[in-house]
Amino acid sequence: MLTNLERIQSDIEALSNFNATRENGLTRFSLTEADRGAREYLKGELNKLGIIPYEDAAGNLFGRLEGTEPTLPVIMIGSHFDSVKNGGNFDGPAGVVMGLEILRVISESEIELKNTVEFAALIEEEGGRFGAGLYGSRAMTGVVTYEELMTNKDSHGISMSDALSAFGFDPKRIEEAKRNPEDIKAFIELHIEQGPVLEQEAIEVGIVKEVVGIRQLSVKIVGRPDHAGTTPMHLRCDALQAAAEVIAKIPQFANATNDGTVATVGVLNIKPCAANIVPGVAEFTVDIRSKNALSVEGVHHKIESQLKALSERGQLQFEIETLLTVKPTRLAESVEKALRESSEKLGISYKEMSSGAGHDAMIMASVVDTGLIFVPSKEGRSHCKEEWTDYDALQKGIEVICHTVIALGRSS
Ligand SMILES: [Zn+2]
Repeated sequence: MLTNLERIQSDIEALSNFNATRENGLTRFSLTEADRGAREYLKGELNKLGIIPYEDAAGNLFGRLEGTEPTLPVIMIGSHFDSVKNGGNFDGPAGVVMGLEILRVISESEIELKNTVEFAALIEEEGGRFGAGLYGSRAMTGVVTYEELMTNKDSHGISMSDALSAFGFDPKRIEEAKRNPEDIKAFIELHIEQGPVLEQEAIEVGIVKEVVGIRQLSVKIVGRPDHAGTTPMHLRCDALQAAAEVIAKIPQFANATNDGTVATVGVLNIKPCAANIVPGVAEFTVDIRSKNALSVEGVHHKIESQLKALSERGQLQFEIETLLTVKPTRLAESVEKALRESSEKLGISYKEMSSGAGHDAMIMASVVDTGLIFVPSKEGRSHCKEEWTDYDALQKGIEVICHTVIALGRSS
């Protein structure tokens, strides 16, 4: 292998020290002391390669290893280095370490690439501090405004704008973080899977074809609150019983699509919520995710039909509000093909997958050719201190991208 296991392990361990909650998982919110520490570590590692790091107006960190034809568009590699509260050492940093290690391999082996390879370490992907998820990549695509920086505040009321200023950035220049898509040949990210599939199937890497579309619904069923002792069963208008009937069918609706569509009821509230009162109102959310926009529509439609049928049966009323719609994002076939070829050449087993979670790659895919590799998550755990990927498993993903970058950088 071209990549070095000890260096990969040492980077992950070093980055995990920049942590605000050392006794309870990893917490590295954006533009905090932990962020500063990780940032300085990454800058130091870039310096060792003779690369002068630079930061954009959004607070993202970059380093460029010049190609032999510097006017060609860059191959950008990386991920985010912020974390959720009490998260793990791999969500984000795995992809940042990928970027660093590939720069090392290319610079030490004197491999000559035509394209410049650009390392990217992005912030606030999780939205852990400011609630501004996927911020770093959104800023690169030019959709973050100064107004958003003023509006997004952390739990202490500090705006993103003030936090950026305190870090030495100029929030008024946020629009300068926008990258010209023509200057980027490809964006390639590595991320932990955050699910159990690769481990369960004993496959080494996931090559992501698309990031799923999401629809979130809020459903409100209005029945009638009544005395739980004196109201006969046949005279009730029980909102919770109606909700239970619909909710019980949702897994069938998802399974019937036969394409891996998932649907989750994550919130359920009833009113008045007392042991001796027939529930008058039941409200619940439905989160539907699929690689096929039509399947999302289909599940939504079936839920609505079911509610209609229930309301026709009794005096129930219902409302459905769509809280969120995100279309599925297809990643670039050209990059996917290059990743597949590298895996095959290296004898690393792979599986084509959809990503059920949003990633910076999803945002970048809206403007440039983008690829995403998953490495296995132990027991599928993530966003918790148990999150783990074996270092040699991480190395395989990095190796695949390393060979892909070399192939892409030679072909231009
Ligand atoms: Zn992540």
